[in-house]
Amino acid sequence: MPLMNQNTLIPNNCHRSRVIYVGNVAIGGGNPVVVQSMTNTDTHDVESTVKQIHRLTEAGCEIIRIAIPDMNAVASIPLIKQAISIPLITDIHFDWRLAVESIKAGADCIRINPGNLGGKEKTLAVVKTAQEYNIPIRIGVNSGSLEHSVREKYGHPCAEALAESALNNLTLIEDMGYKKLKLSLKSSDVLTTIKAYEIVAQKTDVPLHLGVTEAGGLIAGTVKSSIALGRLLMQGIGDTIRVSLTRDPEEEIQVAYEILRALKIRERGPEIISCPTCGRCEIDLFSIAERVEQYARKIPYPIKLAVMGCVVNGPGEAREADVGLAGGKGNGLIFRGEKILRKVPEDRLFEEFIKEVDLLVKQIEDKQGQKS
Ligand code: SF4
Repeated sequence: MPLMNQNTLIPNNCHRSRVIYVGNVAIGGGNPVVVQSMTNTDTHDVESTVKQIHRLTEAGCEIIRIAIPDMNAVASIPLIKQAISIPLITDIHFDWRLAVESIKAGADCIRINPGNLGGKEKTLAVVKTAQEYNIPIRIGVNSGSLEHSVREKYGHPCAEALAESALNNLTLIEDMGYKKLKLSLKSSDVLTTIKAYEIVAQKTDVPLHLGVTEAGGLIAGTVKSSIALGRLLMQGIGDTIRVSLTRDPEEEIQVAYEILRALKIRERGPEIISCPTCGRCEIDLFSIAERVEQYARKIPYPIKLAVMGCVVNGPGEAREADVGLAGGKGNGLIFRGEKILRKVPEDRLFEEFIKEVDLLVKQIEDKQGQKS
């Protein structure tokens, strides 16, 4: 797993994974941690699915997964593939034929749980097709769908049960002669998730896809994912990540990048520092901060923006940022780094702030243009 800079706390003795490729995206072996998501559109509705994938791609999604519930959904794969620019993983449960046919239809990777495909022979047929088409398989073990024998042995879906199921399935496929594999072990319980990945990371060099399943809505899901993924990533465990939220998947991408940014693993888009406000704030900072956040989503550069309520901490934070504002009484100061640029009335604060952000973005782009 690569490190963004020396401030990171990630140790050197992290999980060393083998490299696989999903489409043109390299995973494992020190490549950047990849951000994934899953569509929540009906896969039969190609137009809506493609539109959602385009929006997710713009937000920073690097690999997308779609559900394949039946053969009609398989028919959508080539149509979706030709309209998108990021690798496509198909998600299959129960019916091995859907896995075989989705590989033939052009999937860049399939996600299966060999435990629910109906036996070794059927899994072998899937593995042989993946080998023939040279695409990787993600073995996805989930606490809700552990095989009977493992459930019997442990009595409940604990971390050890998840890890044993994952390692059994991994061995099953590796014994069939196939090594282009990725593993995920998901539980909705944070501590179970952490422990299960920690066990598996000690025992295999297969790349690991991290996630907490059914994590919940924006607040619960963000907290659970941040703790589980944060703890694992800080140990150097994890090659791809997905934050699962009962929300628009675009928000999953934003949360995923914030986790990576906080750990100084990867940066994408602006970092926004904003204060919670208190009795000293005399402007409507919430609405300004929200508008800045919306605006910043379309900026891909890792600039730092500060949106602060008053002059107590405001100017200090604003000066540390590339562009900052600090509220006053019905007005505010606009900063560019150390420099106070001007004082503007509150009703012009957002526009004047954005004017400076746009100028900065243009300077970055001009510089990049000169280099290339
Ligand atoms: Fe309160 Fe000012 Fe700090 Fe914001 S910056 S929390 S308004 S003291």
